[in-house]
Amino acid sequence: MTDAHIHLEGGEYTVEWLEKFVRRAEETHMDEIRLLEHSYLFREFAPMYGCILGKNRFTDDWFSRKGGGKELSRYLALVGEARRRSYPVKLRFGLEVCYFEGAEEFVRRTARGLGLDFLVGSVHFIDGFAFDHNAELWAGVDVDNAYERYFESSVSLAESGVFDGIAHPDSIGLFGFTPSFSLEAYYEKLADAVSKSGMYAEENGGTHRRFPKTAPFGMNESLLRAMKRHGVRIVTASDAHTPEDVGAGIDEARRVVDTVTV
Ligand SMILES: [Zn+2]
Ligand SMILES: [Zn+2]
Repeated sequence: MTDAHIHLEGGEYTVEWLEKFVRRAEETHMDEIRLLEHSYLFREFAPMYGCILGKNRFTDDWFSRKGGGKELSRYLALVGEARRRSYPVKLRFGLEVCYFEGAEEFVRRTARGLGLDFLVGSVHFIDGFAFDHNAELWAGVDVDNAYERYFESSVSLAESGVFDGIAHPDSIGLFGFTPSFSLEAYYEKLADAVSKSGMYAEENGGTHRRFPKTAPFGMNESLLRAMKRHGVRIVTASDAHTPEDVGAGIDEARRVVDTVTV
C-alpha cells in the first residue's frame, strides 16, 4: 500500500526525523511513502504568493507566520542523504505546490530541475481566500462562486502540464458548505483534464481526519467515479503532518477506491 502525501515540516530536515516516518510506515504496512513539502515554506517560492497578499488579513497573517522561512537546499540535502541509504519502505520525495493561475512558468522554473521525484499541485486558495483553514472564514462568502472558482482553478491546474498529480481534489467541501447547483459537469471536466495530462489524483483522508464532523472522506463518490471512468490513477494518501499519522486512513481510502463502480 502507498501513502502518497506526508509532510515532514513539523521537524528539522534530519535523517533522525525522517526515520520516525519510515518506522511508522513499516508499522502500518506501507510499501511506499511519498514525502512532500509545502511550497509556501520556502524562500524560493515566496514571490509566487504576492498574488494572494493584501486581500484579507487572515491570509496576510498566515503568510507572515509560515511563508518563505525555509531554504529549499536544506530539504534537498535531506533527500540526497536519504537516497544514499536503504530503507525497507520505498521513499519518494516531492513538493506540494500551491496552484495559482498564471504562475505555471514560475513553478516550472523553480521546481523542475531540482531532482525531485514528483510535483503535486493543490488549490489551497480561491482568489486569496484560504478556504481550508477554518469555518469562520466562510462567513459572508458567496459559496456558489467559491465552488465555481475552485473547480475552474483545479481544471487549469490539471491542464497546466506542470504537475504529476493533483492533491486532495474536492477538499473545498471540508466545512460542509455546499453549492446550490450540481457539480457533475465540473467533476466530468476535471476528471477529463487530469486524465489527458496523465496525472494521478489523490484519495486523501486528511481533511476528514482534521474535521470529522463536516469533512467527507476523500473525493465525492461521483468525482471518484468520473476519475475512474477516465482511467485516472488514484493514489491513497493520509496528509500526515506527524509520524503518528503515516498510514492513517489508507485502508479506508483503498476500500473506497476499489468499491466505487464506474
Ligand atoms: Zn494540501
Ligand atoms: Zn498536504
